[in-house]
Amino acid sequence: MRINENFLKLKESYLFATVGKKTAEYRAAHPEKKVIRLSIGDVTLPLAPAVIAAMHRAVDDMAKKETFKGYGPDATCYGYDALLDSILSSYARKGVALEKGDIFISDGAKSDCGNILDIFSAENTVLIPDPVYPAYFDVNVMAGRNIVFAEASEKNAFLPMPDDTVKADIIYICSPNNPTGAAYTKAQLKAWVDYANRQGAVILYDAAYEYFVNDPALARSIYQVEGAKECAIELCSYSKTAGFTGVRCGYTVVPKELIRGGASLNRLWARRQSTKFNGTSYITQMGAAAVFTEEGEKQISANIGYYRNNAKIITDCLDRLGIFYTGGKHSPYVWMKCPGNMTSWEFFDYLLENANVVGTPGSGFGKNGEGFFRLTAFGTEEDTREACARIQALLGK
Ligand code: PLP
Repeated sequence: MRINENFLKLKESYLFATVGKKTAEYRAAHPEKKVIRLSIGDVTLPLAPAVIAAMHRAVDDMAKKETFKGYGPDATCYGYDALLDSILSSYARKGVALEKGDIFISDGAKSDCGNILDIFSAENTVLIPDPVYPAYFDVNVMAGRNIVFAEASEKNAFLPMPDDTVKADIIYICSPNNPTGAAYTKAQLKAWVDYANRQGAVILYDAAYEYFVNDPALARSIYQVEGAKECAIELCSYSKTAGFTGVRCGYTVVPKELIRGGASLNRLWARRQSTKFNGTSYITQMGAAAVFTEEGEKQISANIGYYRNNAKIITDCLDRLGIFYTGGKHSPYVWMKCPGNMTSWEFFDYLLENANVVGTPGSGFGKNGEGFFRLTAFGTEEDTREACARIQALLGK
């Protein structure tokens, strides 16, 4: 037998392991110092009360013969009506009309950003932004695909635009972006949609952070752009929207209008899911269905508002220091330029040792991340304020 030798081409991901190791070593050497982590990529606030109440009711349903649920409904790839209806209503509020059959409930956006590749040939060329959420790159290395990069940099404010001289079949776009926090306007996304339609390509649009968008000129969904249903699949998640990182629920939209190679991608994906997936748990789906209710939205907006305020504390500090950054306004991530031409890891060490603040070196997200640094808004307000006061004192000297 032969293994999938593409796995041997994967680079070890030392980023978060090295951040953790260096932080632990510093703490052990300086137990008296309070180290603050502005590197947290996970949510820290608990689930909204409306979600918890819905999950409790779903647990009770499972305890009674009349309301017990086994496998989810076949006709909708295991998505329950209550959840599908709530997702359609959330899209309708964004001005997007979809049908239930366009939506596939998942256990989160990360799985589907790799799983979706099952319906595409390994011969395709993939276009991935650099820097980027590392999973897009690794899942395509595993499949042995040819990878080309859309170069993001300070020059294009980390929002690369399409280049007609580059031929791509599959295009990953993440907006608001992890790690740069940069978010495309609808007009910018229209250029990507037109490019994809001209090339006969498919866009895989990761909208995991769309609930942080607070400006009608920016896109919340790629389907707010004309022509997107003919070229784009949208990957969505309750993780950052509603604190579901530990619960696990998301949804993937494959519009029926999306045809490639003479086939409906919706039908291919439905076939793939019914073969390799058996659905997201009933209790999880009922919890998720409470997110886009009036009460649920009010509660998750309060949590997002808390993170947004932390992001503002960080960006205000960088504004005072005159440091270039992207993100923070429509994203929990702030992507700052390292001062004094330091490399990402030099700045990591400098900040840890002199301000006892931990962030994430940008070079871990791709070659164009070198010289940049990611700070996150997922900590407490108190810690964020203290960390920024220390950064101000250190860099404002
Ligand atoms: N997509 C992006 C861009 C992310 O940053 C993350 C998590 O950090 C995910 C997807 C993963 O989402 P999920 O928890 O739904 O798998």
